[in-house]
Amino acid sequence: MSLEFPALPYDRSALAPHISAETVDFHHGKHTRHYFDETHRLVASTPLANAPLEEIVRKAQGRLFENAAQAWNHRFYWNGLKPAGRGAGKPDGRLLELIERQFGDFGKFKDEFSRLATGLFGSGWTWLVQRPSGQLALVATTHANTPLTGHDTPLLVLDTWEHAYYIDQRNARAKYVEAFWNIVNWDFVASNLA
Ligand code: MN
Repeated sequence: MSLEFPALPYDRSALAPHISAETVDFHHGKHTRHYFDETHRLVASTPLANAPLEEIVRKAQGRLFENAAQAWNHRFYWNGLKPAGRGAGKPDGRLLELIERQFGDFGKFKDEFSRLATGLFGSGWTWLVQRPSGQLALVATTHANTPLTGHDTPLLVLDTWEHAYYIDQRNARAKYVEAFWNIVNWDFVASNLA
């Protein structure tokens, strides 16, 4: 079941104007679907054939790892977004307390995350994670790499592969990062806290 290509939790045009329907059609409908299809195909002949996606990501190597990790990272990315203008636009409660404790205030957290995402060389992912100690931290991973293979708990991710923003923003990754803050699903982020 967990290898099934996940439907979006909102309409294809729901993230506009921050992420266009055309980007969603390509990024979700083609790229994300491809990673799930490839994982399904590659895992069939392995001992992980009936394993959940998380276990495949943690145990597989090579092409199977790359596709399974991309599938998992993308599902997490889409779940971490929501239509603009719904919800507070910023975290509250325990999540906000943890952010303020670690980064000073919400603005400083956004700046640090944005700097990391904008400056990450090549294709990768920028994450807010929770350490086993309970503290929050920022982590960047390249290619398909994911905190799921380590001890940190992912809370929020931004995909900074060019396919995530080139239709809307061309080379201007910083504009995509700025737009991202309008569509973060803070309830999802908070639900990932230990
Ligand atoms: Mn992507």
